[in-house]
Amino acid sequence: MIFFGTGSANIASIKTRNITCQHCKNEDTIYINIYRKHFHIFWIPVFPFIKSGNSFCSHCKQVLKPKEMSDQLQLQYKNIKGNVKGPTWQFSGLLLLICLIGLIIYTTGRDKLNTKLYLSEPEIGDIYKYRVDNGNYSTMKLVSITQDSLFLSLNDYEISKRSRIYKIDKPENYPDTYFGYSKHEISLMEKDGTILEINRD
Ligand SMILES: [Zn+2]
Repeated sequence: MIFFGTGSANIASIKTRNITCQHCKNEDTIYINIYRKHFHIFWIPVFPFIKSGNSFCSHCKQVLKPKEMSDQLQLQYKNIKGNVKGPTWQFSGLLLLICLIGLIIYTTGRDKLNTKLYLSEPEIGDIYKYRVDNGNYSTMKLVSITQDSLFLSLNDYEISKRSRIYKIDKPENYPDTYFGYSKHEISLMEKDGTILEINRD
């Protein structure tokens, strides 16, 4: 399947001044058409890259490429081509990509801030995502808090991909046996990357 390629948009159609058609000898019947090509992925225009154009006589319908134009017409063509701005939609894909990157940066930053906050002010029910020694990932659920300790129920399941952790985060996967950690231990685990993220509903 071909999912990328180029498209073209007619971005201007402007009447020339004081030009006589070489073919039908009519005056002021010549228009300049400007096109801008864009690169597309999945039919979403990503960015434009080249402008081209031609002249068109509204009377005799003759179309001329730039190299076929008279010097006078070519001058107006070059001026128009240089000045005309294309539509923003030809940048849609690029804008979309920038928004997406922005969103990822924003959510990553927010998740990190939340994790710091939940670490300093723990609440029962918080879910700790962590890295298991064997390279897998799992979660623990905070079930009890004392002055200096946290008691967590360790998920019965592990999963090999970090992005799939949500699949094992189910209430029935947390057994009634708890493990106690000092708050200091937990913060060390967060610092060394064992605890990846803390989530709260
Ligand atoms: Zn003509």
